[in-house]
Amino acid sequence: MESTTITAKEIDEKFSLFSRIERKEHEQVVICSEPHVGLRAIIAIHNTTLGPALGGTRMWPYKSEDEAIRDVLRLSRGMTYKAAVAGLNLGGGKAVIIGDPKTDKNEALFRAYGRFIEGLAGRYVTAEDVGTDIKDMEWVRMETKYVTGISRALGGSGDPSSVTALGTYMGMKACAHKRFGNDSLKGKKVAVQGAGHVSSYLVDYLVKEGAKVYITDIFEEKVRKIVADSGVTAVKPDEIYGLDVDIFSPCALGGIINSDTIPELKCSIIAGSANNQLDDENVHGQMLIDHDIMYAPDYVINAGGLINVANELEGYNYDRAHEQAERIYDVILDIVNHAEENNIPTYKASNELAEQRLRQIGRIKEIYASNSHYSGRLGELNDYHS
Ligand code: NAD
Repeated sequence: MESTTITAKEIDEKFSLFSRIERKEHEQVVICSEPHVGLRAIIAIHNTTLGPALGGTRMWPYKSEDEAIRDVLRLSRGMTYKAAVAGLNLGGGKAVIIGDPKTDKNEALFRAYGRFIEGLAGRYVTAEDVGTDIKDMEWVRMETKYVTGISRALGGSGDPSSVTALGTYMGMKACAHKRFGNDSLKGKKVAVQGAGHVSSYLVDYLVKEGAKVYITDIFEEKVRKIVADSGVTAVKPDEIYGLDVDIFSPCALGGIINSDTIPELKCSIIAGSANNQLDDENVHGQMLIDHDIMYAPDYVINAGGLINVANELEGYNYDRAHEQAERIYDVILDIVNHAEENNIPTYKASNELAEQRLRQIGRIKEIYASNSHYSGRLGELNDYHS
């Protein structure tokens, strides 16, 4: 009979911090502690092949250190893929602050955190994320220049939602091009889930192009506002999946493409801004293929937010950020073509294209180019060249 006893070596391989870091191929994990101000933060730098690791700081009342570590390792890895496939010269990183964003925030905490970031000398650049906002980033900025997502008044990029919406709209058009033979959305029926920041801009694009839009939200007043502004049709939250539409656009929350909702869907394209739309990538990516539904991978189509903050690194320019977000059209086309050619789900195709770029750019960096300041531009901070 086989022994079920776990050896010390096996425990180490499964649970030790080094093993976990190595398994997901992280470069560096930094634990930041300043008990006088209540700071407990973890910064994870996954991969800097393409440039400095950029990713937001999440503040969350994690139930355990283990939960916080798991989250930061997972999220930072995702950022590597997101930046790589979007064509940005940025690496992947993310940070978490353990604490309740409603009660535990203060100036000293974020400034202490900023000093730890400064100490990384540009290997990690932060931004806002769930639980943090522009005000927090302005505290961080008092101690480091390695921060983005600050207000326009301070030379930052401000709210990224309009750029995210533009990228989502262009990605949707790319899917339409593949599915319907041309990318016009005129007369196409689009169901939008969520009436928040991104949706309000997205609906504008769709209505201007002549699409027939249905919208829902759990807060009726949000729906009422968008309906009053743009004349779209309101539906109840649980009706959105079963609508007879061409395109479903999830712009609310994650996990909503799952074994319960997929059989309800009548659309032929899913293209929306929400993060982590597939409840289980392995199961539901294939299930969508079986239902003949084209899926625009979420982290690709919603990369406008990252493109927007990345633009701050060389001096923010609104037009340039929008032009770059428009290129999500081509990225989505490449992914859909790659998926078709290899008969794989689109989320797998985008991972493969990201890994291919990391390999190729990693290889060219083996060429000695003196101290070139041009290598990896749009990954260097504003005053880096001076
Ligand atoms: P938001 O909070 O402004 O809007 C989300 C809306 O969804 C809210 O109005 C909320 O009430 C609604 N909602 C929540 N649960 C719902 C449900 N079950 N049914 C219907 N509506 C529901 O957020 P946002 O900034 O517009 O972002 C939308 C999505 O896009 C989020 O998943 C976000 O993570 C993702 N995203 C946003 C950006 C950005 O630039 N804002 C960038 C990348 C990804």
